[in-house]
Amino acid sequence: MSAPVVTPQLTQQSPIKLLTTKSYYAPELRPLEFKYTEVPGTLAGEEFVLDHGGPACHVVFDGMKCPLRKLHFHAPSEHRIDGVISELELHLVHEILEYPDAYPSAYLIVGVMLSLAPAKAGPAQPLGPWLRGHFDARAGGRQEHRVDPTIYLPQDRAYFRYEGSRTTGEHEEVVTWTLLRDPMQVKGPAPLLLDPETDRLVQPLMRRYVLRNFALIA
Ligand SMILES: [Zn+2]
Repeated sequence: MSAPVVTPQLTQQSPIKLLTTKSYYAPELRPLEFKYTEVPGTLAGEEFVLDHGGPACHVVFDGMKCPLRKLHFHAPSEHRIDGVISELELHLVHEILEYPDAYPSAYLIVGVMLSLAPAKAGPAQPLGPWLRGHFDARAGGRQEHRVDPTIYLPQDRAYFRYEGSRTTGEHEEVVTWTLLRDPMQVKGPAPLLLDPETDRLVQPLMRRYVLRNFALIA
């Protein structure tokens, strides 16, 4: 008689709720080094895909150079930080080239919470013409743009870190998530044209622990 087949369960799913007081300070977590430059890419559907895989645009994660492959938005945010649902969540999808094929986490996705400032607000980052194109692109077609994703990064890059999954498709558990703690205020059109059905509901934490690279201020 053969051994019973155990169906693998999905136990590291994303998104999740991130709580500062229920995460663990890990001072060993090194800061991410963002080495972004303005790069050409193509808006295809809801994703901005960098031409040539974007090797000029990368982050240094634990000493590894991880190229940015694509970026996209969710409206409203999929992750929640301390109970807050933001108007937009930017996902910067990097590939971890140095991991062997069999290693489960092959992607480092950096998530940034974006809130929309009122039109007349002061120093908020404009979303940029390419993102207006992003909203128009739902009508179809492909558009070429140049983007420097640095403009969407808050000044303080303190982050939460956990192991999780893609939030679309087959929800493969291949993602090292890095969610920046601080939101970024941007100006732009209301994100009504983004399809809220692309947002996934929060998933159970299961056996995981969420880490953070910042201490609590007493
Ligand atoms: Zn996403």
